[in-house]
Amino acid sequence: MNAPTDISSADAHIGSSYIPSELLDSIEVGIAVLDRNFNVQVWNKFLENHGAKKAEAIIGDSLFTHFPEIEERWLKTKVDPVFNLKSPVFIIWEQRPYLFKFDCNRPVTCAAEFMYQNVTVFPIVDKNGHVERFCMLVYDVTEQALGKLGMEHLNEELKTASRVDGLTGLYNRRYWQERFDEMHKLCVRRDKPSTALMLDIDHFKRINDTYGHQAGDKVIKMLAALIKRCVRETDLAGRYGGEEFAIVLNDSSVEDAQAVAERIRQLAQRLVVEHDGESITFTVSLGLAQFSPDFKGAMAWLECADQALYKAKEGGRNQYCIYA
Ligand code: GH3
Ligand code: MG
Ligand code: MG
Repeated sequence: MNAPTDISSADAHIGSSYIPSELLDSIEVGIAVLDRNFNVQVWNKFLENHGAKKAEAIIGDSLFTHFPEIEERWLKTKVDPVFNLKSPVFIIWEQRPYLFKFDCNRPVTCAAEFMYQNVTVFPIVDKNGHVERFCMLVYDVTEQALGKLGMEHLNEELKTASRVDGLTGLYNRRYWQERFDEMHKLCVRRDKPSTALMLDIDHFKRINDTYGHQAGDKVIKMLAALIKRCVRETDLAGRYGGEEFAIVLNDSSVEDAQAVAERIRQLAQRLVVEHDGESITFTVSLGLAQFSPDFKGAMAWLECADQALYKAKEGGRNQYCIYA
């Protein structure tokens, strides 16, 4: 195809087509043409504006000298199929949030720190069928990306909310049970000592009856915070029922667990919960059972801790007992 005669010097010659500069510059997409060595030949207004660099300053230079955020080796490898296979290449924001570190289009209303980009790179085949140059289209996909990231964040929050007990922030019974089943399986395989612990507040009905349900809730909440402070990240603590808590102390023999149980018992006894001008004190009872391969399943293990708890109650409360 012959070139039209009225082409201005700013027009781009892409393959056998001429793209008028008005079109190149009015489009809300970044358009660049580069040669094999990544020297810039065409740089449209969108790229000028967002890259805060005039086309004259860039054209003729290597892309990499102007945009140090682009890893040269990575991009060259990525663009390779454009030359070798004459096929287009796509760089999507999920893979790399951006190629060029441009500011977000609307810095005031936009929550993003930078412009998310999708980039399409395609070969420009010359009349001999060779690819000596390529074209790069840079799309601003910030809104789309923020939308998706926002959804993911929301989903993550929903997931957490579905696992956690609202009052205490500990795992709820359903999720605790799921994790406990997994831990039980690990115990079966790994033969490492772990200890399950059941805890119940003593005479909790009295607290509710004397100070009201809200005061009771506050006691549960404060106790949960105390428990969190006494266990490790790797332990599994959950609110098992109203004023009942279940904990697995990972990699802990019953001897190790006794120390934790005693610490919780003492701290609970000393804890003073202030509510409506009243100072509420309370005690807890605990039951401990170390994992044994003889247990027929996770529930059997927990049942043993519960039996030990029952013994602690029977023995006068405010104490821990160990499943024999
Ligand atoms: P024990 O020493 O034998 O455990 O006596 P207890 O009074 O604590 O007896 P029990 O464990 O059977 O009673 C638990 C009470 O906890 C019954 C219920 O009204 C109350 N409860 C359950 N869930 C909640 C809750 O979320 N908030 C409040 N405030 N009370 C609750
Ligand atoms: Mg109870
Ligand atoms: Mg109780």
